[in-house]
Amino acid sequence: MSSAYDKLRRILLLERTQGYHDRAVMGGLAEFLQYWQNQARREGEQASLGDPVTVGRVLEILDGYGELSPTERSDRVATLLEALQEGGQSSEDIASPDDGSTEGEEATPSGDEVTKKAEGASEDKASTDGPPRDMEAALEAQKTLYADVTAIKGIGDVISEHLARLDIETVEDLLYHLPRRYDDFGELKSINRLEYGEEVTIVAVIKEIEARRTRSGKSLVQVTLGDATGSIQATWFNQPYLRRQFDVGDEMVISGEVDEYLGRLVFTSPEWEPLQRELLHTGRLVPVYPLTEGVSARQFRRLVRNTLDAYVSPLLDPLPRSIVKRHSFLRLDQALEQIHFPKSRDALHDAHRRLCFDEFLLLQLGILRQRQAWRSQQGRILEIPEGEIEAFIEGLPFSLTEAQECAIEEILGDLQRPIPMSRLLEGDVGSGKTVVAVVAILAAVRNGLQTAVMAPTSVLAEQHYRTILDMLEGLEGISCALLVGSLSAAEKERIQQKVAQGRIQVVVGTHALIQETVDFARLGLVVIDEQHRFGVRQRKALRDKGGEVKPHLLAMSATPIPRTLALTVYGDLDISVIDELPPTRQEVITAVRDNRSRERIYSFIRAQVSEGHQAFIICPLVEASDKMDGRAAVEEYERLQEDVFPDLQVGLLHGRMSADEKDQVMAAFRDGEYDILVSTAVVEVGIDVPNATVMLVEGAERFGLAQLHQFRGRVGRGEHKSYAILMSDESSEESVERLRIMEETNDGFVLAEKDLEMRGPGDFFGSRQHGLPPLKVARLSDTATLERARQEAKRLFQEDPDLGGEAYRLLRAKLERFWSTISLS
Ligand code: ADP
Ligand code: MG
Repeated sequence: MSSAYDKLRRILLLERTQGYHDRAVMGGLAEFLQYWQNQARREGEQASLGDPVTVGRVLEILDGYGELSPTERSDRVATLLEALQEGGQSSEDIASPDDGSTEGEEATPSGDEVTKKAEGASEDKASTDGPPRDMEAALEAQKTLYADVTAIKGIGDVISEHLARLDIETVEDLLYHLPRRYDDFGELKSINRLEYGEEVTIVAVIKEIEARRTRSGKSLVQVTLGDATGSIQATWFNQPYLRRQFDVGDEMVISGEVDEYLGRLVFTSPEWEPLQRELLHTGRLVPVYPLTEGVSARQFRRLVRNTLDAYVSPLLDPLPRSIVKRHSFLRLDQALEQIHFPKSRDALHDAHRRLCFDEFLLLQLGILRQRQAWRSQQGRILEIPEGEIEAFIEGLPFSLTEAQECAIEEILGDLQRPIPMSRLLEGDVGSGKTVVAVVAILAAVRNGLQTAVMAPTSVLAEQHYRTILDMLEGLEGISCALLVGSLSAAEKERIQQKVAQGRIQVVVGTHALIQETVDFARLGLVVIDEQHRFGVRQRKALRDKGGEVKPHLLAMSATPIPRTLALTVYGDLDISVIDELPPTRQEVITAVRDNRSRERIYSFIRAQVSEGHQAFIICPLVEASDKMDGRAAVEEYERLQEDVFPDLQVGLLHGRMSADEKDQVMAAFRDGEYDILVSTAVVEVGIDVPNATVMLVEGAERFGLAQLHQFRGRVGRGEHKSYAILMSDESSEESVERLRIMEETNDGFVLAEKDLEMRGPGDFFGSRQHGLPPLKVARLSDTATLERARQEAKRLFQEDPDLGGEAYRLLRAKLERFWSTISLS
């Protein structure tokens, strides 16, 4: 049994011993599985022995564990333990606790999954799809959802204008404008029965109101709330206007976590709204919607009610019934009803599960389609100059890691196929991606083809240019050029001319490469570094420079993203992972500190400098404006140079400097002319200064973990012990806890998972930028559902790639609509 499975088994045993309180691992099983699945998959890939119980199975069996009753939990744990113990058993024999299906193929290491025959693709279609539906009527019903909201009874021009501010334009938009929470009036608690830490909703009357300032200057509105059983205080900070919205005697609905202050139970900034009496009598979960001025909560509830009644019927369900059955889903009409007016928490959970699945399925189906479109294009078969590549690798001052060798093999394999390569090379900062790319470049050049290397900043483009020159120096017939925005028009033109004539083989540059004036004689390979910095369009623009025959594409990224997510977001890419750092790399010692340690940290930096090392100081990120960003860095630089380190050489780098200036500063720092480099986030990407040993990040709480990890990767690049110090004066527990994770792990994948979990996927990418339609219900962090949907999408796609079958007409229409806002071609 691999170590991941062994770990899982031990945790399940512990959970059983402890009586199923979901406390066997900190944060609960759900959180644990987020990491676990990655580890399990990686191990599975390395050893290429598929464990009998697949990752998909495990996720499915433990799906929603935290929400289950103790009995259900014990069932699930027993099922899984049994399966894990019986090593040789095939996954088909393990009955799923809820639907008895035979799900669960392992995610395969290559991205080629689509070509694999999905098991049982069409097995149950005939038997479970039931009697034929009236498709025409269903399509008609589906179409009515696309009508303007004014079609709904009770919505005229005035309300529709208000609704437009909520992005509600069609009937469908209204149906998918989901509650942000539900008030549970069925289980109202009296004040004397409240318990610390629980999430509750109470109804109470305002007894007293006080507004004042705290000693630290925060404004505070404090309200004493009472019911027949007692009273409790609620406090809101920095919302002084609340004072005017409350009156003594008002009846309020208060929702939030019960907190404690000086030994008494209190509410801190709870959600609130004035009580509407009639809700008390509905005796159920009442939806609370995100609203805008001009539409009251009550009015909105009524509109939703009308719409459900008038537009939603069983006809609407686009999912094949086999899928609905396999996952014990609600029908779409049931799900919509229950998400708005749930009859119980369980029903709400089921509704949510179904709607998330729908979105993910549409997402995945679209991505599979894109992928297939890519793969049907014409590419060039390259001949690999084996001998020369071997000699090149021999000549490097280091030997390649196994992971680098694997990646090279995969890439060379791609280049020998008639399909254009479309590969993402993912590897932590410093894992050595560049040299892998250079091997591909060498292969392209020897086939008489040109390569374009695009990087997001000119500092980085220049570094690549130098590295590539360095590595390819002395090889015959290769000339390289750098094309960045800061060149003079004449220089640019000269280079462009040579590129067009095919006299330059390798062009390294920034966005300047995609400009219309750049023409290639024979573009055969496109390398994009830090590819998540570019949008789909930019990637495509560069590829299109290849003309009829598409060039091979190698995208690189140092932002490790969880595998399931990678398959979604980069669905059109195959993935190679460099999951191993060169042995010469040092683990960077990381510490989270606050202002009180400032003096000591400066002494520490001074000590490092006196040993001949260098330090980076990253300035706090100021609101997304370049101007502010630059100024903050300038001020900090002046302070440090004049007051703190007057005897040292301090350099400054920020985004508003010209590419030339930046280059000069970076070069000077690299050459040891500066002891300390003060910089904004521009330094983040790929700069290599082996002598730097300290990375001090100010205002660290403002950065995502993945980004902090990037900063940290700037040091520890030589043989010296290195340090990352994360300064934060943000005292919120959550933010400190988040930074502590940086102390605990150096694994970029773990950090990416954490980021995803804590901040959502926005940290890696805006979905739109990556060419994904916006999601209304599902969260990309819900990897378990994403994985289910991926399996089903594969199945469907395998069976009927165009969804041309009669049973799929609704689904196909929905798919077109879902992707209609995104145009890739
Ligand atoms: P990244 O993956 O972050 O782009 P680079 O390609 O810039 O990493 O490599 C980081 C540094 O490690 C470079 O100085 C490079 O020469 C060096 N390097 C790459 N591969 C190895 C290796 N196998 N052993 C030792 N050093 C290596
Ligand atoms: Mg790099």
